[in-house]
Amino acid sequence: MIPLQDLGWQGQPWQWQIAHAVRDANELTRLLHLEASPISTDFPLLVPWPYLARIEPGDRNDPLLRQILPIAEEGMSAPGFGTDPVADLDSIRQNGVLQKYDGRLLVITSGACAINCRYCFRRHFPYESFQPSQRDWDAIVDTTRSDPSIREVILSGGDPLVLSDRQLGNIAGRLEAIETVDTLRIHTRLPIVIPSRICESLLAWVRKTSLRVVVVVHVNHPNEIDNDVVVALEQLAAAGVTLLNQSVLLAGVNDDAAVLTALGRRLFDARTLPYYLHQLDPVAGAAHFQVGDKRALELMHEVRSELPGYLVPRLVREVASATSKVPVG
Ligand SMILES: *Cc1c(COP(=O)(O)O)cnc(C)c1O
Ligand code: SF4
Repeated sequence: MIPLQDLGWQGQPWQWQIAHAVRDANELTRLLHLEASPISTDFPLLVPWPYLARIEPGDRNDPLLRQILPIAEEGMSAPGFGTDPVADLDSIRQNGVLQKYDGRLLVITSGACAINCRYCFRRHFPYESFQPSQRDWDAIVDTTRSDPSIREVILSGGDPLVLSDRQLGNIAGRLEAIETVDTLRIHTRLPIVIPSRICESLLAWVRKTSLRVVVVVHVNHPNEIDNDVVVALEQLAAAGVTLLNQSVLLAGVNDDAAVLTALGRRLFDARTLPYYLHQLDPVAGAAHFQVGDKRALELMHEVRSELPGYLVPRLVREVASATSKVPVG
């Protein structure tokens, strides 16, 4: 068997990694020496090589595999689990824009992602091809300019870093021309799943913009942070970016105090501070990932006793119509 590390993907640019990601469950199980048990799903498997290579071959319970492999439990229906769990569709202010909280405007910059995470609300929005048009962006800039309470624009998705650096540099340029906006935030999993996304052309516009740049990455388990990820995040830090992480509390992935503690320490190795630990949004197809609030609070108690306060994430849940993320407990 050829080791996963030697299959020709290493050193390829990020665009190649997206184009050649693994999309076939049979291929994945073959590569990882697992018994095939493909299920039919309308949210297909999607995993790029740099992430796949961090999965332990032969281990069906691998915490990274569990995040990406479709399994039969997704077919279970569970009370309270639906297709629009946080009522995003009610918060759409204009094409591509969600505003739930004061001072922050969230733009669905792209519907696409480089990976399909099984627990994601996105599984029910087939907006893979969604992307604000030039016209939409004109309107977003107008809204932002005419509302001085907006100090921060959040590029979210999907994953905004699937856009080219020319497009992202343009967006940053248009926003920095608005005097009342001082911060550009980017919610992205790409530096984790494809660390080569943090390339020179990205760093160039990040260094150049006069906006403060905050990058919120998404890591759930310390095994997701290999040395390439550390290097990528260090480059962002060196370019002046404030780095934070959000995780989702997931049964069978990180519902374990030792794992959460190791995650906090590993993030700090990569200049990143834990920000939020989210209680799962009740998304149809993800009920098998749910961890009860009582257990979640016990875990937080243990984590808090192990780690310095600055490595302890805030346990929160998203509640439709609340004015911020809501602390649990
Ligand atoms: C989560 C979220 C934000 C960001 O909230 P913070 O607490 O500032 O991280 C902003 N807008 C929307 C619509 C969100 O869902
Ligand atoms: S939006 Fe984030 S959590 Fe959802 S599939 Fe994309 S990368 Fe995964």
